[in-house]
Amino acid sequence: MAKVIAIANQKGGVAKTTTAVNLGACMAELGKKVLLVDIDPQGNASSGLGISRVELEHCIYDVLINNMPPASVAKDTEIKGLTIIPATIQLAGAEIELVSAISREMKLKKAIKEIRQDYDFILIDCPPSLGLLTLNALTAADTLIIPIQCEYYALEGLGQLLNTVQLVQKHLNPQLELEGVVLTMFDARTNLSIQVVDEVKNHFKGKVFSSIVPRNVRLSEAPSHGKPVITYDPKSRGAEVYFELAKEVMENGQ
Ligand code: ADP
Ligand code: MG
Repeated sequence: MAKVIAIANQKGGVAKTTTAVNLGACMAELGKKVLLVDIDPQGNASSGLGISRVELEHCIYDVLINNMPPASVAKDTEIKGLTIIPATIQLAGAEIELVSAISREMKLKKAIKEIRQDYDFILIDCPPSLGLLTLNALTAADTLIIPIQCEYYALEGLGQLLNTVQLVQKHLNPQLELEGVVLTMFDARTNLSIQVVDEVKNHFKGKVFSSIVPRNVRLSEAPSHGKPVITYDPKSRGAEVYFELAKEVMENGQ
């Protein structure tokens, strides 16, 4: 039975997708069966794993809106053990179409229930908003990973995210827990990065992963080749750190 982990932060550009793709790839490489569910209409996780969106007949939209079986939309990737349910721009409409749907926050949870037994981990890459798609992810998830960029204003907006998490816990998914916070784009040369690490560790006591992801150019290049960093450049620091993070998450249990 898979553990379902949502990767969320309503801020854009904090490395949600980079973390979803590379954490998923590393877990698969370490022998786990992993499903990545892309629920961002931008579809960056899909293209980052080499899925050509123009050639896709169906995507997560069809699962959420047309009740298509999730297994029929899932695609294998180049990484053994890593499967993806891709997203296309069509998903942008879902945010509005879901508004009038029955049990609109439960759609993804229902879909995932059908395939949960086929995987060890299911990672959900969320869009940069706290709309219905992210609510669906938080409702479907057992736990949440929050990526935080080591930049100025790192903590800004997190109150809103944590409020949303509390509301979801109260009304939709009482079991939802914080898996952990992952610090990203760390630059050891700047005091600012070091300060942000301290601040975030203070704020989320005991919940910050010890693997801190540095700024690494290989991580930013890999998606344009449609590959996770472990196949694009397995010796890079980016690959090493995402392996460490994968081990930490796996140690937290399934
Ligand atoms: P989000 O999904 O939160 O919007 P992304 O994962 O797409 O964020 O990351 C935003 C941008 O930063 C992308 O261009 C990505 O390649 C780049 N990026 C992410 N993590 C790193 C890193 N550790 N080092 C360098 N670039 C990174
Ligand atoms: Mg993204």
